[in-house]
Amino acid sequence: MNIHEYQAKQLLAQYGVAVPPGDVCSTPEAALAIAERLFAKGEKLVVVKSQIHAGGRGKGTFKSGFQGGVKLCKSAAEVHEKAKGMLGQVLVTKQTGPEGRLVSKLLVAAAPAIRKELYLAVLLDRAASRPLMMVSTEGGVDIEEVAEKTPEKIIKEIIDPAVGMMPYQGRKLAVALGLKGDLIAQGAKLLMGVYKTWWECDAAMVEINPLCIIEGADGKEGLVAVDAKIGLDDNALYRHKNILEMRDLAEEAPLEIEASKFNLNYIKLEGNIACLVNGAGLAMATMDIIQHFGGSPANFLDVGGGASKDQVTAAFKIILSDPNVKGILVNIFGGIMDCNVIATGIVSAVRETGLKLPLVVRLEGNNVEAGKRTLTESGMTIISGDSMADAAQKVVKAVGK
Ligand code: GDP
Ligand code: MG
Repeated sequence: MNIHEYQAKQLLAQYGVAVPPGDVCSTPEAALAIAERLFAKGEKLVVVKSQIHAGGRGKGTFKSGFQGGVKLCKSAAEVHEKAKGMLGQVLVTKQTGPEGRLVSKLLVAAAPAIRKELYLAVLLDRAASRPLMMVSTEGGVDIEEVAEKTPEKIIKEIIDPAVGMMPYQGRKLAVALGLKGDLIAQGAKLLMGVYKTWWECDAAMVEINPLCIIEGADGKEGLVAVDAKIGLDDNALYRHKNILEMRDLAEEAPLEIEASKFNLNYIKLEGNIACLVNGAGLAMATMDIIQHFGGSPANFLDVGGGASKDQVTAAFKIILSDPNVKGILVNIFGGIMDCNVIATGIVSAVRETGLKLPLVVRLEGNNVEAGKRTLTESGMTIISGDSMADAAQKVVKAVGK
């Protein structure tokens, strides 16, 4: 699950990470009120930021023609005007795809004078099987580009999860970031706070781009997280009720939301052959074999090890609500799963949805005979596949490609 920048900053602030003061709103009037409050406190500049689950907002363009999803403003009136230009409009960025995202919330925050933009992220290094903190002096820009063109500018520190991040590691990275004087201790403390956020929230990733060296009102330099992105591990959300409440369904694909209600793992893809499979590994192998025979999968769908008839029916409805789908491949290996449960679910789903598309079914394993009988006795046109390869070839042929 992903959360918005303003929510990520709330979590970071709880772990002592400095973020610019500000508030979230959903109307231009509320944006104006927040801005008035900030200017009254002596802020010189206020930033209005579109809250969508995608980066690249600064350089994005609204479909209305309005430029930029992040705007610096010198007055409350200007904040009001920019908020009117953003709210209710669709923002297209490098990360949203051409369809863009509707902006319905704005973060209005103090915009300190930035001296330097840095980069910071914590994630899991799968090769090292350890948490990894990654920093770079090249912040604010596309980190993928830095990784490609100047990989030496990304400094990595592996963290031992048993002991957590050590203060020396914080200091080492702070120095690597080019911090000087008081900022080294401040930076080390901030990095430790970011690691703690990542660890305690069970995050998959915390990214701060940019982390900024700013010039405070007293002329002294300080460090603040100007942007923040947090991705969470869905499997750990059950123990973070406060974070679960941050879920914004408007940012998620409607079909994926529907699937999550039934505990189905569904991810929509670009192809035209829908797959219904039990087990993530088998689902991936099924997508591979479809590609291998020249087809293109319309989705990843794992109904899990012990799916019920209702789940199978829901799964069918979900894959069928994708208009690109021209054929369906059901590939079930009954280990824990009873093949007849799947077969019964298929029959009921086909009846309920009045399915007209070619349907190829490959069943194997636990109670397979009963499952096959259920399918045959239903009198429906179902193409049966003897093996994975056979089933994949049949469905590719049936969709005519
Ligand atoms: P993103 O484009 O979605 O990654 O959004 P960011 O929050 O990273 O904003 C993009 C850029 O706008 C940053 O890299 C900064 O250069 C600028 N920016 C954002 N917030 C502030 C701020 O508070 N003060 C100043 N001076 N610039 C800001
Ligand atoms: Mg950014």
